[in-house]
Amino acid sequence: MSMNSTGRPTSANQQNKVNAAALLPDEPLLFEVGRLDSSGVDLPEVQIDNSFLGGFERQEKLQLHGLSEPETMRHYVRLSRLNISIDASIYPLGSCTMKHNPRLNEQMARLNGFANIHPLQPINTVQGALEMIEQLADWLMKLTNTPAISMSPKAGAHGELCGMMAIKAAHDANGQSERNIVLVPESAHGTNPATAAFLGYQVRSIKANENGTVDVSAVIEAMDENVAAIMLTNPNTCGLFEPDIIKIADAIHDAGAYFYCDGANFNAIMGIVCPGDLGIDAMHINLHKTFSTPHGGGGPGAGPVVLSEALAPFAPVPFIKKGGDNITLVEHVEDSQSLGRLTAFHGQTGMFIRSLSFILSHGIDGIEQVAKDAVLNANYVKVKLEGEFSLPFGNQHTMHEVLFDDSFLAGTGVTTLDFAKAMIDEGFHPMTMYFPLVVQGAMLIEPTESESKYSLDNFCQKMLELAKDAKVGNVERFTNAPMRAPRNRIDETLAARKPILKWVKEE
Ligand SMILES: *Cc1c(COP(=O)(O)O)cnc(C)c1O
Repeated sequence: MSMNSTGRPTSANQQNKVNAAALLPDEPLLFEVGRLDSSGVDLPEVQIDNSFLGGFERQEKLQLHGLSEPETMRHYVRLSRLNISIDASIYPLGSCTMKHNPRLNEQMARLNGFANIHPLQPINTVQGALEMIEQLADWLMKLTNTPAISMSPKAGAHGELCGMMAIKAAHDANGQSERNIVLVPESAHGTNPATAAFLGYQVRSIKANENGTVDVSAVIEAMDENVAAIMLTNPNTCGLFEPDIIKIADAIHDAGAYFYCDGANFNAIMGIVCPGDLGIDAMHINLHKTFSTPHGGGGPGAGPVVLSEALAPFAPVPFIKKGGDNITLVEHVEDSQSLGRLTAFHGQTGMFIRSLSFILSHGIDGIEQVAKDAVLNANYVKVKLEGEFSLPFGNQHTMHEVLFDDSFLAGTGVTTLDFAKAMIDEGFHPMTMYFPLVVQGAMLIEPTESESKYSLDNFCQKMLELAKDAKVGNVERFTNAPMRAPRNRIDETLAARKPILKWVKEE
């Protein structure tokens, strides 16, 4: 292995050259590892008489795998190594903001007074936890310059549902229930039209212009008395700031509709732009993206929603109220216009602690720096790669993520999918592919502020090598990839249509 002057390998990925199989043994299921006839713990013989079970007592042994503690631990550690994680390598999955999860946050979340409380405890015994939620809510309202917030939504899409339900409730309260259309630009995240449709709205799509952003004139043209709201993602999923967002907000409000802003990409502008100043009525914030709480593989998330003055009365319960020395949790309000309740408890407390820890350890100046570094890193990747990759919307600056299309692969026989699979062999999680749909064979890369120049240089060098290799016709490197992963190409359609979710004991 060659070393540079710092003593580091010239490419961290040369470490991948070791035999992957030795480090990645094929891990059987827990049920297959363990012996079903024994137990990993010593349990006392049951002394009680089974007669009260009315003859329903178990006749066979409980078929649990009898694993020892080290066997159990090894099983899960091995499983954790079968996939790429942010702790192991750069994870440039666009639109997902896979940033480093500071260990300080984990330490805070494990504090006794947070980790070992129960949502049904008397309120006077959990004042600290409520104050923590209140502090985070306050930060989020200040960062967005909005007067109200609901902390309970448990994901971005759940926040969209919350905000759009508030909009629906507001129209109902104003006698405008017949408004049944939601405008959704093509550059919106897929959850936006899904949320609108879920609430029974018809979705009217707004085309992107040649710059990848939304034209005010297209919004005005699509406007009529049946439009309830627009759902606009800003910065949008092409990684671009919507330059006409204020004009769009004005057009929407002039027509009596509301402005839902998808704020999942808030990490690009926080500390710099307040969405409340742009005329938004509701916006969710993905704490699990912007404020570094661990996610991926389906959770956990937290999607608080900030609301404008107009929508504040329709916010869901519960909410936190500070009065004197006490903090109370308001669970019911008589004669209120509240849209009701979205979840059983108060939201994802563990994610709140981690987010507040992230915010307090950065401070307001640090938060602004996070946004600037995220944008700088994306533009650095753009400039490094643009010689070999193709930019769909010309050479404009990008925000926190950079979007390429597949035209640089034309005629090579390599597709966006093949390219993504080849990245796995280089030790990276693939970028987001085929999304957003506005460009052909999209490749969306979001490095986040976590990556150092060294890490980005290493990533870009490998990406350039891959692009050049595709162009000189080394097609097998792509079509056979991944070759250094525990699984090659999986039939994802079959897996989705006919999932095998249950272990059945072989006779
Ligand atoms: C991630 C994301 C969402 C959805 O958030 P979830 O927490 O996955 O439900 C919505 N919009 C945008 C722009 C996103 O990036």
